[in-house]
Parts: sequence; C-alpha cells; structure tokens
Amino acid sequence: MNPFQNAQKQLKTAATILNLDSDVLEILKKPKRILQASIPVKMDDGSLKVFEGYRVQYNDARGPFKGGIRFHPQVNLAEVKALAFWMAVKCATVGIPMGGGKGGVIVKPQVLSTGELERLSRGYINAFVNFIGPKVDIPAPDVYTTPQIMAWMMDEYSKIKGKNTPGVITGKPLNVGGSLGRDTATAQGGFYVLDELVKKLKLNPKNTKVIIQGFGNAGSNMADIMFHAGYKIIGYSDSKTAILDIKGKGFDSHTIEKIKKKKGYVDICDCHKIKCSCKDHKHMTNEQLLQQKCDILVLAALENVVTQNNAGKLKTKIIVELANGPTTPEADVKLYKKGIHVLPDVLANAGGVTVSYFEWVQNLQNNYWTKKEVFTKLQKIMIESFNSVWELSQKHKVDLRTASFLLAVDRIADAIKQRGI
Ligand code: NAD
Repeated sequence: MNPFQNAQKQLKTAATILNLDSDVLEILKKPKRILQASIPVKMDDGSLKVFEGYRVQYNDARGPFKGGIRFHPQVNLAEVKALAFWMAVKCATVGIPMGGGKGGVIVKPQVLSTGELERLSRGYINAFVNFIGPKVDIPAPDVYTTPQIMAWMMDEYSKIKGKNTPGVITGKPLNVGGSLGRDTATAQGGFYVLDELVKKLKLNPKNTKVIIQGFGNAGSNMADIMFHAGYKIIGYSDSKTAILDIKGKGFDSHTIEKIKKKKGYVDICDCHKIKCSCKDHKHMTNEQLLQQKCDILVLAALENVVTQNNAGKLKTKIIVELANGPTTPEADVKLYKKGIHVLPDVLANAGGVTVSYFEWVQNLQNNYWTKKEVFTKLQKIMIESFNSVWELSQKHKVDLRTASFLLAVDRIADAIKQRGI
C-alpha cells in the first residue's frame, strides 16, 4: 500500500468517529494544489540534466502551507501527497497556525558535487517561486536536505524578489536567520511527550530499556537526550548495522557519536558480522533488532518498518515515532490490541515543525530568542498537546494516533467551515 493510501485510511477512521461533515471530508481527501516541475541543472562536466520536482500544497485553512523538501531517488507523488497531508495533521495536532505541504526532488544528492547541489536547490526555488512565500508556503529541510541547502534556497528567493526574505524557509543556519534549538528540536519534542507517557505508565527511566532504529539527526539526538535522562540504551542501528547490548550495561550515546564521526557509521566494533564474537554486544539485522525485548522502541529511520508481518512479534511497551509513517494502519490495530502505546509521528516528531514555526515568527519579527526561551515554549506546546491527545484516546477508547487525528481533523474542519467552503 502506498503512503497516501495509508494516510487516507487514517483520515477515514477519524472522519467516522467525528461524524465529519461530508463536504469537509471531500476537501480533505485531496490536496488543494499539486505542483510538478522539470528542473534543468548544468552539471560540472558541461552536460545538462533535468530533475523532476514536486510541491504539494495540501491544506492551508489554518495558516500558510508548511513542510519540508526531500531530495531522494525514491521520491514520488504518492509519498509527497501523504507527507503533505501528515504535515497538515501535525501542525493542527500541536496547534500551530500553519497548514500542510511537502516537496521533493527525484535525485541521489550524494552523487552531486556541491556546485551541482547548489544549482539544483536554486532551480527548485526558480520552479516554484510564484507559489511559495512567507505568507503562502514555507518549505524546510527533510531527508537529505540541509541547513546549507535552505540558505541557498532563501538566497535565491530573496534575489528574485529583490528583498531579504528569511521567513520564506526554515531550518536555515543560525547566521542567516535560523533558530537556536532547531537542530535538536525533533528529538527534544519527542522526549517531552515520551516523558509524559512514561510518567502516566509509572516507569522508572533508570530501569527502562531503549532500542533506537536510525542514528541520524532525529535518532542520535534522541539517544543523547535519553542517555542523559538516565534511560538504558540497549540497542541501536543505522542503515549499515544493528547492535544489541548483551551485558545489560547500556551504551553511552557519546561513544556511539564518536564512532559515527570517525567511521561514518555506528558499528562499535570492526567485525561487521551478524555472527559477532564480541563479548559485550551482538550484531544482528535491523529487523531482528526491532523484535528484541525492550520497554521503549524509538523509530527514527524509515517509513513502513512496523507492518502486519512483524507487529505481533514486537516486545516493547512504547513505540516513539520520530520517523514519518513508520507504522502501517494494519500494524496499528495489532499493536493497540497488544497494549503497546504508539506515540504517533504527527505528535512525537512535531517538535521539528514547532521550532520551524518559532524560526518563522522570529524572522518576521526580526527578533531572536535564546535556546532556553525556545525550549520552554516547545515544552509547553508538546505537553499540552500530549495531554489533549491522551484525553481523547481515553474518551473514545482509541489509540494515540487516532486520537491525534481526531484532535487535528476537528481543528482543520472547524477552520474550513468558519472560513466558508
Ligand atoms: P537522517 O538522514 O539524519 O538519518 C536517518 C538515519 O536512518 C540514518 O542514521 C540512516 O543510516 C538510518 N537508516 C537508513 N536506512 C535504514 C535502515 N534500513 N535501517 C535502519 N536505519 C536506517 O534523517 P533524520 O532527519 O534523522 O530523519 C529520520 C526520520 O525522521 C525521517 O522519517 C524524517 O522524515 C523524520 N523526521 C525528521 C525530522 C528532523 O527534524 N530531522 C523532523 C520530523 C521527522
């Protein structure tokens, strides 16, 4: 099933419980606007390549479209549409006044030179310049797009418009209008909601075992925050390796980070083998790691990793979705029946877009906040959102994802109706 079909199923579930107005449902079933462009780029060898780019503007009833731009060879329209819809739901779940959008380019950015990457980034803005803007649609980074790329894009937009416009894009480097705290905001926001759930379930962090899939921006920052809060990280992985602690001591996040910096991947020893002879830890496949006994499983890598095939085999109490769309709707049903609490992506990773929203507010005011101010505001939003979602899940006897959708779809529907269809 493609991600947009998954998103439609989630919408349908919420619409049924909410008894959603049928006109509003029809509007929410489809994006408001789908943009597609051919982006010509002069390559370093003098040849010309044309890349395919998308921008999907799903819904802006609650505020300007907001959502990242992904550079990845597997980008496709169904994925961009799903991600744009989830952005609308995410912004509404945490109550920030933004709608949902998403962009993407079909490209393997690792094979481009810096110059080619810059020309592609500027080309993307040229292609969509008439449809974005600080009050219209505000892109941001996503998979394989960086603060540097955001700086080039902001510069291109500013040049075309003839005025410095930092508020057109978020996730920028600090010295061109970025916000303090944006780099760790996704993990920090996830931690704030996890902390609330841990308190509700009366778990003691010191006796709580954690496995983390994915060790990029979201996963590595989460490992660091959880390590410092006293949690025991007993397993982690990246695209190359998955490692489980067999002595029960737990891994130190600093050590893993150091290895990643040195080797470019997170393997703690050099054997790289599934049959590892190391005394303290064991190598395994990513799939095997997901099925190990733990208390908290953090998903911070890919879509569709928990499916109806492996949901029944998971031995955890909590799943934290820092990745977008890691659990399929069929798996959700199984996990709920098993009593596993899933902190859904639209809530758990919403810290990223929340601090992006803070960045935009700071850009518009030309007034910048301290890191403490950023995190104090973020914590308040994440805790309030968690409690609203928790209460709805208890009231309707549904999982936390459905409860998030109930909260968000209701808010979006209200905005659509109040503005007039
Ligand atoms: P990233 O590129 O920094 O890291 C991705 C990590 O996943 C890497 O460690 C990579 O090795 C690992 N990975 C890739 N394939 C894997 C596999 N098959 N098994 C295990 N690990 C694998 O990306 P990121 O920014 O950390 O984003 C991760 C996820 O979180 C994405 O779904 C993204 O959309 C979502 N997310 C990120 C942010 C953010 O602010 N970074 C915000 C919201 C959502």
